[in-house]
Amino acid sequence: MSHKPLNEPSFRESVDLMFNRAVKLLDLSPGLEEKIRVCNATYTVRFGVRLRGKIHTFTGYRAVHSEHMEPVKGGIRFATSVNQDEVEALAALMTYKCALVETPFGGSKGGLCVDPREWDAHEMEQITRRFAYELIKRDLINPSQNVPAPDMGTSEREMAWIADQYNRMHTTDINAKACVTGKPLNAGGIAGRTEATGRGVQFALREFFRHSEDVARTGLEGKLDGKRVIVQGLGNVGYHAAKFLSEEDGCKVVAVIERDGAVMRPQGLDVEAVRQHIMETGGVKGCPNADYTELGNSVLEHECDILIPAALEGVINLSNAHSVRAPLIVEAANGPVTAGADDILRQKGTVIIPDMYANAGGVTVSYFEWVKNLSHIRFGRMQRRQEEARHQLIVDELERLDRYLGDAWSMSPGFKEKYLKGADELELVRSGLDDTMRIAYQSMREPWHTREDVSDLRTAAYMVSIDRVAQSYRAKGL
Ligand code: NAD
Repeated sequence: MSHKPLNEPSFRESVDLMFNRAVKLLDLSPGLEEKIRVCNATYTVRFGVRLRGKIHTFTGYRAVHSEHMEPVKGGIRFATSVNQDEVEALAALMTYKCALVETPFGGSKGGLCVDPREWDAHEMEQITRRFAYELIKRDLINPSQNVPAPDMGTSEREMAWIADQYNRMHTTDINAKACVTGKPLNAGGIAGRTEATGRGVQFALREFFRHSEDVARTGLEGKLDGKRVIVQGLGNVGYHAAKFLSEEDGCKVVAVIERDGAVMRPQGLDVEAVRQHIMETGGVKGCPNADYTELGNSVLEHECDILIPAALEGVINLSNAHSVRAPLIVEAANGPVTAGADDILRQKGTVIIPDMYANAGGVTVSYFEWVKNLSHIRFGRMQRRQEEARHQLIVDELERLDRYLGDAWSMSPGFKEKYLKGADELELVRSGLDDTMRIAYQSMREPWHTREDVSDLRTAAYMVSIDRVAQSYRAKGL
């Protein structure tokens, strides 16, 4: 069972330990090391909202880890467990993540101590708008300085409220929509943002499986097809990752772990049905065609090929790392493996695709959304029909050839339709995301393969990121 032991470092200390491990392998001055590691500022706010006849006080945070590039970027989390240590750890991860996938942002993160399930939609709107007001007032939400996005407990609904709140307070700002990403499509969002983080997890795994030497380090063989996957947390990230991997790559989702326990099925669960059951009942208990256990965390230790923690941090820690049997862990959540557990798993030879890479799909598509908002035009609007017209020219020629050659040759079935269709925004977003995930993997893999003192992908990822942040500081003359 994964009860976090008392001698386990905090989340922020865990991130620092991982940072220190990597930075030792780089040749930076100690002053610059320290500058990159520390969190620049954390704002704490307590505000009251009158709800159900009385005033309730809420505590929120916005941490800015690094402003080597602006705006800074990072989600806003709604959960009762939110605290300063957590937002600072998450803000630091954002800095490294943005550097790794080359999105031009510094790192930030926000959080509000609230259980969104305790309040109805109207009440949540009042709470969210009030929190946003406090942050906007201090430019901690601002298109050119600090741009939040969804995280645990928040979704496009909250982002739409935040965008509207900013708009009310900056009525003449032509770029107001770019103050937050992850908005609904009809409020300035971008196609494919909701699925982006889960889609990124899929692209990360596909890229990993393209490199047979990397797969060999896990002891696994072959392609993604048929691999047994366990997912913890069937929320935005976990659901999309599980859905795409099972529907498009032939993976079998053999267990889903949620707050109230876990459901299992060795032949593979119907991800859509499990999700539907969670939406209807609030948990996985009673899900049809599956075995249930209330000891959810024990399922992290079950045999499988790929373990995808996609809920919260610290779930694989000193108490259970020894028992985790998966040879490959993909950190869809932020910080699911503590620094202590990371040491144990590394020694066991478990391969971990680290959070700062694995879940970077969200910030990547957020970047596309921000660019779309600033350019005030949907991706593909200018080129799509022109591209189709040029393709039509080739298809006309091929049709002429087809007529000329008679039975001797014809176009493959479906070719014409596929070739003629110009890319819409969703296809462009997916293509940009795929490209980003492939390139980032290759940059992270390089030190893993070329340096003897780098034994894991996390250290390699930190090295690439820290080096890029350092270059950016050096370019500024620091
Ligand atoms: P979400 O709120 O949509 O989903 C979280 C899921 O985890 C829910 O289904 C919840 O019931 C479940 N859960 C919560 N506590 C649990 C527990 N103790 N055991 C098992 N399940 C539990 O959140 P999300 O947006 O999917 O985020 C999940 C993780 O991914 C977080 O670590 C977040 O920081 C990270 N992340 C999210 C995004 C994004 O775009 N949303 C981007 C990058 C990283």
